Parts: sequence; structure tokens; C-alpha cells
Amino acid sequence: MKVGIIGAGQLGRMLALAGYQLGIHSTFLDPDAASSGGQVGPVVVGALDDPASLRELAEQVDVVTFDIENVSVEVLADAAAAAAIWPPPHALAVTQDRLSEKQLFEAIGIPTTSYVPVADVADLARCGTTLGWPIVLKARTLGYDGRGQRIVRTPDDLEPAWRSLGGVPAIAEGWVDFDCELSLIAARGSNGSTAFYPLAENVHSDGILFSTTAPYLDAALQRMAEGYLDAILDQFGYRGVLTVEFFLAGGQLIANELAPRVHNSGHWTIEGAETSQFENHLRAVLGLPLGSTAPTGHAYMINLLGSIPGRERLLSIHGLHLHDYGKAPRPQRKVGHGTIVAADRSALLERAAALSAAVSQL
Ligand code: AMP
Repeated sequence: MKVGIIGAGQLGRMLALAGYQLGIHSTFLDPDAASSGGQVGPVVVGALDDPASLRELAEQVDVVTFDIENVSVEVLADAAAAAAIWPPPHALAVTQDRLSEKQLFEAIGIPTTSYVPVADVADLARCGTTLGWPIVLKARTLGYDGRGQRIVRTPDDLEPAWRSLGGVPAIAEGWVDFDCELSLIAARGSNGSTAFYPLAENVHSDGILFSTTAPYLDAALQRMAEGYLDAILDQFGYRGVLTVEFFLAGGQLIANELAPRVHNSGHWTIEGAETSQFENHLRAVLGLPLGSTAPTGHAYMINLLGSIPGRERLLSIHGLHLHDYGKAPRPQRKVGHGTIVAADRSALLERAAALSAAVSQL
């Protein structure tokens, strides 16, 4: 079985690594042959939106998938003649634009943040009265890990903030005073079967995921979140793994973002669940039965940003699973992560605090 992966970042790398043990061969499309994924599998070297390169990839594999969202849907359509493409490109199209993502949540009846589309200066005037303060201004496209976002605290700051984003089409969101952030990851297979991981609790810093703790045990919220994702998966006729990030505020789940792919908040599943999100994504896109999403304990995952700090110190931490993505150091870049799994939550939280302290001191 052969899978083509558009983008050879760390998500692609972990997909390929999950595929190895199942005898699945992964080939990447990426401009950089030495990229994180390129270190573990062959690469068709080319721009992600180059039709000829994408066709070359599609001709070598049974199914094409992607590890990033900035893939041209038009170019994908062209490659569809050579190989199946999963998840469905129209899901990608919706999630590439924060406005259409919000409209999808609304159409399905999933609570989301209040928002105002911002196309020009005139739209900015509506924000303060409609949304209150502060406001989060987000570019509609190409934003990730806190990029393309500004927190705006006063009416006078609104226009400068929008201009500093480049004056591009944006949405202004009302501030959510959340109790915590949760995400739910689902997999949907070829026959419409679904599998849901337990809710995970995420902590962000400067818009970038800092840590994930899972499972977040709340049966009512789990049921509610699964219902929301079920509706999205059905709507798209989806195949593969899909993630929704929520704010939890006053006992309510408020959808923030949707990703049609494996997700950073699911890295804990490699050691903390019976089947990882990466393996389940491959199973789903290849039409294989889905694996169990049951947690094997309580897991804590911490992102390593910038550079891998003190490898020897990290590896001396009892039970730590270190993942090094093979990326060159760069400030705030996701270069690896560490996961620990414990039998019970209190033991986990103790060890998580020690790990988090060790990482910040290194
Ligand atoms: P996003 O790129 O939309 O996932 O935003 C990154 C992070 O910024 C989120 O995980 C939150 O921690 C924070 N954030 C984004 N939007 C809001 C909001 N409307 N209210 C409060 N915090 C937000």
C-alpha cells in the first residue's frame, strides 16, 4: 500500500513512521528533500501547488493525503484523476477560510464565537458595538500557531491592527473568557464507521500549543463534542482524521477551529492510546478497519519549541518518550515533543509538572 503525503513536516513524518509497521510506504511532496518527513521517506521535490509535481506524486501512490492545510484545492482536483484524495478536498476548502469555517459551524448548529467579517475599514466600525472588548482579529486565510492574529483592546487600536495584518480579509472575534481549551479528534473510515478519541485539554502560549493532557473525563461533554464532529464528518462525506478545537466556557463547548488532518493535540495518542491518530488516519484513507481509540492511561504531551533542550537531561526523565522531528532550530518552531503516560491522573499531574519545569529550565 502506497500513500502520498503533501507536505513533509512533522505531521507527515509521524504519519510515515506509523505506516512503516503496517507495511505502508509513504512518499512526500515537499520543496525540501531534507525536510522532517524527507528524512524518513522519499520526496518528490516540488512546490506544494505545482500541478506537475503533484501529478508525479499521485501517479506513484494509491491515495494522496496532506499534512498541511495550505494546499491548492484546484491543483488537488487535477491530481484526482491519478489517485484517490482523502480527506475530501472540499473539507480542505472550507477550513482554509476562517469565515467559511464559522459558517459551517453555524449551519450545523455548533456554537462558535461571535464574529464580524472584516473586508474594509467600514466593517471595523461594527466590531466594537457587536462584539465588545477585547477583540481577536484573525486573517481569514493562511494563519496558524498564532500567526495572522492580533488582540485588539480599544477602538483606536482596531484599524492599526488590521493594517498590521496587511489589510487582508479578516474576521473579528469576540473574546471568550474560557475555563479551558479542549479538542476532539475523530477518525472516519471508508464505510462511514467512526472512532473518537477522548477529549484532550490544551494549554496555549502566544497562540502556540504548549501542552496537552488527556483524557479529559466528562461524559456529557464527550457526548456533545462527538455529536458535533459526527455532523461535520457526515456533511463532508469524510474519510481520515479530523480535529475540532473548542473553548469550554460556563459548561458550554464553543468551537474555535477545525482541522481536516491529524493534529498537534493528538500527539499523545502515539503512546497514550491503543491506536495513534497517525495510524488511524492511514487506516481511514486506505479503507482499512479503524483501530481502537481507547486511552491506555493518562497522558501528558509537551511541545519542544525553538530547539531540543538538553537531550541527555530529557532522556533521563523516567518514562519520557522523546520525539525529535529532525528540524533545524528556529525561535518558536515546533522541533519535537515529549510524552509521558501514567496509570492514574494524580501520578500523571505530578510527573507532568516536573517535566514542564525541566523543559522550561533547560
Ligand atoms: P487559533 O489560531 O484561532 O486557534 O487561536 C490560537 C489561540 O489563541 C487559541 O487556542 C486561544 O488560546 C487564543 N484565542 C483565539 N481566539 C480567541 C478568542 N476569541 N478568545 C479568547 N482566546 C482566543
